[in-house]
Amino acid sequence: MYFIAENLREKFDNISIDVSFECEKGTMTSIVGASGSGKSTVLRLICGLDKPEPAQKIILDGIDITGEKPAKRKIGMVFQNHSLFNHLRVDDNVAYGLVSSGMRKKEARIVATDFLKAFGLAGFEKRYPNTLSGGEAQRVSLARTLIMKPKLVLFDEPLSALDAPLRKKLASLILTLQKTFDFTGIMVTHDINEAKAVSDKIILMKNGKIFWSGKSKDFDEKMMEDDFNLQI
Ligand code: ADP
Ligand code: MG
Repeated sequence: MYFIAENLREKFDNISIDVSFECEKGTMTSIVGASGSGKSTVLRLICGLDKPEPAQKIILDGIDITGEKPAKRKIGMVFQNHSLFNHLRVDDNVAYGLVSSGMRKKEARIVATDFLKAFGLAGFEKRYPNTLSGGEAQRVSLARTLIMKPKLVLFDEPLSALDAPLRKKLASLILTLQKTFDFTGIMVTHDINEAKAVSDKIILMKNGKIFWSGKSKDFDEKMMEDDFNLQI
């Protein structure tokens, strides 16, 4: 298996999170659950932003990355609020990781400018994030993550802040990018229809635990009734 996460655990006053799952290479897995069910915490544990419990084990592409620093994991992350650096031009935002890993700024800008074209953002390189629409900012954010060639990309509600037509567009862009850049993806969402549209596998979370997981095509709407309420 390409990605294995065992015993992703974290305890807070009101919830005890405990999740294990696997993903095949080149697939998209959606983690779906109500607000507060522990989805973002699971992503933070995967990318190494939260402290692991001793039983935790994370394998990516045959390599045990459990104790590895976040920057060394070859995991990219895209957030809902895109978290671009507002004081940096678009090209410098996209080039940021390259510069951090030793590439000279001038060269990194050229690579970033070329890279932006694949995201429909040619000519945007000198703009600043506060001049971009929500959809444009999210595409810059995707470019900034993918330029580092991550093996695994984590998306935390990347479409939630956008309106419905734009969400559809960006969801299909994410699928296209996945084929182009050949990454494995895990996307958190509270929208089951979005999950079904983009993912091969669905994991339903409730109160910090996995409630159901399986292929998207085997997902049954009945699971959403009664005790599993995804409305927020
Ligand atoms: P989701 O992304 O599904 O909305 P989160 O993983 O953000 O859920 O959070 C799950 C629950 O864990 C939250 O309801 C919150 O009560 C608790 N929690 C998350 N982070 C912290 C923290 N740093 N301190 C205390 N409680 C936290
Ligand atoms: Mg969250």
